[in-house]
Amino acid sequence: MRRKIVAGNWKMNTTYNEAMDLVAELKSSLTEEVVGETGVIITPPSVFLSDVVNELVDNPFIAVAAQNCHEQDNGAYTGEISAPMLASLDLDAVIIGHSERRQYFGETNASCKVKIGQALNNELAAIYCIGETLEERKSGNYMDVILSQCAEGLEGFSEEDMDNIILAYEPVWAIGTGETASPEQAQEVHAGIRAWLVERFGGEAAQDISVLYGGSCKPGNAAELFAQPDIDGGLIGGASLSAADFTAIVKARTEA
Ligand code: PEP
Repeated sequence: MRRKIVAGNWKMNTTYNEAMDLVAELKSSLTEEVVGETGVIITPPSVFLSDVVNELVDNPFIAVAAQNCHEQDNGAYTGEISAPMLASLDLDAVIIGHSERRQYFGETNASCKVKIGQALNNELAAIYCIGETLEERKSGNYMDVILSQCAEGLEGFSEEDMDNIILAYEPVWAIGTGETASPEQAQEVHAGIRAWLVERFGGEAAQDISVLYGGSCKPGNAAELFAQPDIDGGLIGGASLSAADFTAIVKARTEA
């Protein structure tokens, strides 16, 4: 069954104390009633992951993910973090191909494919991000761009693999800009992705794959986005740094 999911991407934010305070606040605000059937994931900076996992070890409502992993298991890649390292911390998932990584660190659909493989081989779910730039949106061929990201990043993965892959449609022009895709714009793309998934993996499998929306999703617009039939949840950046806002978004997902 397709899961409702809300994932918070903390990016390169918070000091150690701020991170642990935020976890403490989330632990008390994300109650059973708020979370319901929603899968909640937080992705703190990698240096804090171990302590965050320990803090949440008895908490059934909040899963923990990393923001990236390397293509290799280990080796001479100074500063990088591998999927086996993340798995050894008992993490649940890893974000792959966030647009900031594509933009600033040269990630491509091909490198994302390798990273998704690394995640799955290490029993981590992969949250694979796709989405068009403003130029691509304006040019009108955004759907081709998004479906190429799907086809190339997911090349070679099976229907079973898709049990552990979550897609996140994040229009680059809406990330951190305060400009959100309208529910209709987001739904149009999500429906296109869903149709592609049906063609690629078959109807039954495609119906089980969660596709999240990300891009300036806030408490004020979450409910109308989550009311769209093909939007299964959200990948939340800025608003995930506030326990109150993130909790309100989770609540909106649970209630939609
Ligand atoms: C993100 O970085 O994944 C994101 C959606 O950011 P924001 O919510 O701040 O636009």
